[in-house]
Amino acid sequence: MTVFVDSDRLSETRCCDRSCPTEGLPMTTHSRSDWTIAQVEEIFNTPLLDLIAQAQQIHRLYHDPHIVRVNQLISIKTGGCPEDCAYCSQSVHNDSGVRPKPLMSTAEVVAIATRARDNGASRVCLGAAWREVRDNRQFERVLDIVAEVTALGVEVCCTLGMLTAEQANRLDQAGLYAYNHNIDTSPEYYETIITTRTYQERIDTIEHLRGTNITLCCGGIIGMGESMADRIAFLHALATMEPHPDSVPINVLSKVEGTPLGDQPDVPIDETVRVIATARILMPHSVVRLAAGRHLLSFSDQALCFMAGVNSIFSSENNFMLTEAVPCTDHRSDRHLLETLGLRAKVPAGATPPSKVPVSIRTSDGATLPV
Ligand code: SAM
Ligand code: SF4
Repeated sequence: MTVFVDSDRLSETRCCDRSCPTEGLPMTTHSRSDWTIAQVEEIFNTPLLDLIAQAQQIHRLYHDPHIVRVNQLISIKTGGCPEDCAYCSQSVHNDSGVRPKPLMSTAEVVAIATRARDNGASRVCLGAAWREVRDNRQFERVLDIVAEVTALGVEVCCTLGMLTAEQANRLDQAGLYAYNHNIDTSPEYYETIITTRTYQERIDTIEHLRGTNITLCCGGIIGMGESMADRIAFLHALATMEPHPDSVPINVLSKVEGTPLGDQPDVPIDETVRVIATARILMPHSVVRLAAGRHLLSFSDQALCFMAGVNSIFSSENNFMLTEAVPCTDHRSDRHLLETLGLRAKVPAGATPPSKVPVSIRTSDGATLPV
């Protein structure tokens, strides 16, 4: 299926009055959550250059195409995680050589976050290698950290494992902007990758977050041996969330020696771009973030990803994401990348939920498909 943007049905409505990702650009303001698997499959299988062109059209309607959100991860508690996620360098089930480190002090996190902000990061993501949050002094410290890092003027995201509704509320009260909780892959493939928790437990935490003001960051990983049908089902699961995740990280597996996925084949660039472009079309408002695995992509591969709708990246000060086992490019080289492509790093922003104005795409056979 070839899809065309039906611009006749677009409305020029501001999406929000806060500093939104479009910086006040006219916005199309409705997106749908009732995609069928067959529709996702049709979009996913569009000839690649058509798919990229259509994703770029959608991208320009909903976002300022020159703005990229730069995030930096900080591992506030490293390693020793009891979960058995097959890709992860921090699981006790995997022999990755990552040395566990206890929860950082508030001062330590604030110092790193301040440098991240000064290096151009508009969001700081605090990761803890926990199965779930416990109601203890460590959680109290995380709440302090959230409040202090928020006061630096950056968006704060946490990824701490499973949460109860009560814990989600407490993070909200501390001022947390976003929570990352990835579904990682299709519901069907999930238990091949993780056996110590269920897909439904992931959804339960997402539901607990929905009762708060915290925005949802939710995506996954490609390159873990999943089929194309799994990638379609993964994108379908995200695109049928109501509302869509505010941000959607697409990780390309960063192969870690000592993990069960350490010798997976590389993901060809056309497959990465196809997943990104489909995500952009299905979830037009969402920030699509090219996350782990970007260090393996050439300059031109990354340019293709931006063309396909990426508008956020992770950057780092030490060339790794959460642990040394997962590399990440640094702020200096990323500034050069963005500058060369005529892109600018976004300074802190927030998006309010869009109001409902119908938008549709037209298929090559003349049918209209609301998005
Ligand atoms: N304990 C938290 C949890 O599971 O939600 C921590 C999150 S984990 C470090 C954050 C995400 O990073 C994972 O959900 C996964 O999508 C991604 N990730 C971790 N290791 C990765 C790897 N080797 N390659 C690609 N993505 C990875
Ligand atoms: Fe633990 Fe998160 Fe790594 Fe899974 S991804 S092993 S839950 S730190």
